[in-house]
Amino acid sequence: MNKKQIIQDELYKLDLKRSQAEIAAVAALRCAREIAEFREIDDKVRALKLQLAKFEPNSTKAADIKKQLAQLDKQGKQILKKHKFDISTLAVKHDCPKCNDTGFVDGVICDCLKHNVQQALIKQCGLNNKLNFDFSKSDEKVLADNPQLSKAYRFAHKYCENFPNNKESNLVFYGEVGTGKTFLLECIANELMKRLNYVVFSTAYDINKTMIKAFNSPFSERDTILAPLFESDLLIIDDLGTEPLYHESTLTNLFTLINERQRNNLAMIVSTNLTPDQINERYGNRIKSRLFNQNITITIPFLGSDLRLKKKMS
Ligand SMILES: [Zn+2]
Repeated sequence: MNKKQIIQDELYKLDLKRSQAEIAAVAALRCAREIAEFREIDDKVRALKLQLAKFEPNSTKAADIKKQLAQLDKQGKQILKKHKFDISTLAVKHDCPKCNDTGFVDGVICDCLKHNVQQALIKQCGLNNKLNFDFSKSDEKVLADNPQLSKAYRFAHKYCENFPNNKESNLVFYGEVGTGKTFLLECIANELMKRLNYVVFSTAYDINKTMIKAFNSPFSERDTILAPLFESDLLIIDDLGTEPLYHESTLTNLFTLINERQRNNLAMIVSTNLTPDQINERYGNRIKSRLFNQNITITIPFLGSDLRLKKKMS
């Protein structure tokens, strides 16, 4: 599926959802009409609504009918309440109150549709955003025992609060395994996804695989496969340095990805077990200097008990 087809598909799903909600409300009304007292009121409501259509909306006649309708509505509700009928089932229930599940608000694509399309693109790309941690589930005790992690945690929180307007929108977390890097990355990803940002979270291994897949695919499919990596508001690359290096292609792909995102001012967070020197050795200076570009990047070393939050590197 290309991007256009994905949008069509998501719009179709919204249409279906809306129809189902309308059918459910009609079925509930049919149920309510089995109560004779209510049916009598509902018949009057229907007749009045037909009359209302004949008058100018602002006329005194229309105002009078509206008054009667409001009165009948009140009575109808009282009857249903008396019969212990769940009134809420009569309303059409929409998941998105902004667009009523139409996907558009005043002709502009709604956040809900945007989010669904982004998730479908991520899925199609072969990546998954299934994450275990978020800020609300973090272990207070672990944080209390580790002041440095706690500091990085507070920093991450602030990063999310300010997103996408952080002056330094790129972060690099580096340090040993088990120092909390992935935990914090997942917290950030989850928090920003909750705020409906387009976030792609992936290991360097999967990103490498996806890019190779894209470049081996027909040209017409390539852009769709690569879209999440190149277009997302935030790309998180976990575990840079653990992916196999297929020589030039891995390096070229990685450089293109980092370079393009920086050119388009799109945020990126990278975690790695490698030190900046080791990054230089493995990927070369071109990638290292982009990755640690001081103007737009904050580097956070995770040094176990000596975790410090600082901006440095060159
Ligand atoms: Zn919506």
